[in-house]
Amino acid sequence: MIQRYEEIIEADGDVIVREHKYGRYVLFTDHEAEVKRLRGALRRFLAAYKPCTHETVHRGGAIWTICEDCGKQWADDEGGFKPYVEPEWISEARKLVRQ
Ligand SMILES: [Zn+2]
Repeated sequence: MIQRYEEIIEADGDVIVREHKYGRYVLFTDHEAEVKRLRGALRRFLAAYKPCTHETVHRGGAIWTICEDCGKQWADDEGGFKPYVEPEWISEARKLVRQ
């Protein structure tokens, strides 16, 4: 949903943001509006972030495991195949978006 911030009003030193949403206005403090904007940007980033999870691999040569989706290769003598593990910062970002 595209959010349009229609108006900014100064009231007792606080900045109030008026957002037009589903045909009515919702008021936020400037800080709440900023958090909403950041969370929206993070949500869009996570939706576009599609790392290869190396679901389909095959063996190549004598020592290689090769991902069929991204082409990454793991050598047995260097520890072999390592399954995808979601980075901690992505897990943290997902938690922040859900709050
Ligand atoms: Zn892959």
